Amino acid sequence: MTKWIFVTGGVASSLGKGVSGASIGKLLQLNGFSAAMAKFDPYFNVDPGTMNPYQHGEVYVASDGAETDLDLGYYERFLGMKTTKDNTNTSGDIYKTVIEKEIKGQYNGNTVQVIPHITDEIKNRINKFEGKVDIALIEIGGTVGDIEGLPFLEAIRQFTLEKGKGNALHIHLTLVPFIGAAMELKTKPTQHSVAKLRELGIMPDMIICRSEKHLDDDVKKKIALFCNVRKEAVMEATDCQSIYQIPEAFYKQGIDKLVMKILNLTPKKEFDTSWFDIIKKELTKTTRIAVIGKYTGMKDAYKSIAESLYLAGLHQGVKVEDVYFEAEDTDLINKIKGFDGILIPGGYGYRGVEGKISAITYARENNIPFFGICLGMQCAVIEAARNLAGIKDAASGEFDNNAKEQVIAMLNNQKTIVNIGGTQRVGEYSAKIKKNTLAYKLYGREDIVERHRHRYEFNPAYAEKLEKAGLKISAFHDNLPEIVEIENHPFFIGCQFHPEFTSSIDKPHPVFAGFVEACVKNHR
Ligand code: GLN
Repeated sequence: MTKWIFVTGGVASSLGKGVSGASIGKLLQLNGFSAAMAKFDPYFNVDPGTMNPYQHGEVYVASDGAETDLDLGYYERFLGMKTTKDNTNTSGDIYKTVIEKEIKGQYNGNTVQVIPHITDEIKNRINKFEGKVDIALIEIGGTVGDIEGLPFLEAIRQFTLEKGKGNALHIHLTLVPFIGAAMELKTKPTQHSVAKLRELGIMPDMIICRSEKHLDDDVKKKIALFCNVRKEAVMEATDCQSIYQIPEAFYKQGIDKLVMKILNLTPKKEFDTSWFDIIKKELTKTTRIAVIGKYTGMKDAYKSIAESLYLAGLHQGVKVEDVYFEAEDTDLINKIKGFDGILIPGGYGYRGVEGKISAITYARENNIPFFGICLGMQCAVIEAARNLAGIKDAASGEFDNNAKEQVIAMLNNQKTIVNIGGTQRVGEYSAKIKKNTLAYKLYGREDIVERHRHRYEFNPAYAEKLEKAGLKISAFHDNLPEIVEIENHPFFIGCQFHPEFTSSIDKPHPVFAGFVEACVKNHR
């Protein structure tokens, strides 16, 4: 039987419900339980696939190709779990299901309402985890008090009652602001938020207070009194240097012990605190990596890349300084001179592509470690076609549908794919790596499975010509080139897939690990 932990947020958004929940999940894993986490977002976009990265950060791709919120990246990185469509639900998606059922007549002519039809759909989706894991953590997006969040709170209230006492637990993550003028931490916003929650029939079992300062006993007592929890259940989450320190900060307060007590669980194994040492590894070396993209003003747009670089560095005792550059910057090459490595992430559209290509020429000719992901790999193919194979007009069909030399093209079978990502190749695909390649050295095996999200491909019609010119294809999915590299270069690799989505604290992705290692070696 699965036990349930619901995480709601109070006072303000962006307090870190995802990271807090994932940290608690990690502690429970370290106590021997299996844990999974899922998100329920009250907004009406059906999925974040088409949302502006400026507003919503990166689109995270789950294993089955679901295009999701970047919080799922934290679930995977912290818990080492594989997410799918089941781990992400939005109001848009939930209402769509209910409306489609209604149109098909599946409600037998009954009046369709928020309660019970929407709430039932929410509960069914939560209940998908029943029996699959020991503990399911459910994050409710938004803030208590949001109008669109009401059906979700009502659904989890019903769900908790149905599962019975001791089987479900509510954690409320809230903000306790420090008011400088009064030199005081203020509990009133939290009191209001919990009052709202209780009005809706949800009694929090634990309150985690985000604050700049430590909460003293009096503050905790006050929150306990006004919010109807025991003082021992008032926890704090003060700002940490790194989000990966949060599990330990929670462990020190006994959050996992209290969770297990409320859920009537006894640890399945002795807690291994050596896990915390990964995070505490001393970073004795530094490397600077230039990331060239389009949404550089906002780091969230490349969240998984930043985290993958950080985790790859962490395991090697290297502090990675990732600096983000605008591909359209006319002084780009001058600005990236002096960096130890160049990374070009995925993206859509022509804007900035010529800048990216010139940065690749620079990396290739000057032996600077280069790592291209998806569009970054496609740019590397165009670069090699133009400058190594002499195909001066080499282009991608994405930038010019009528281009003659489409070394990157939409292939015929691609045009007919209709699934979650429209005409895109999304989600996990297998690939076979050739031996005696950099890719094989990094992965240490031939068979890999990686996540995709793209519409265009390295056009196999050009494979032979480009290989002869020096761009080696080191992995294929059927006849589709998946990894390219350049020999006699310290590190030059491009992959059509997105390795940034599958790094975890315990296991950084091997291509990121190899890239960071090469950047350290190339330190200038
Ligand atoms: N725009 C390119 C394509 O659709 C690359 C996509 C990406 O980088 N995710 O093929």
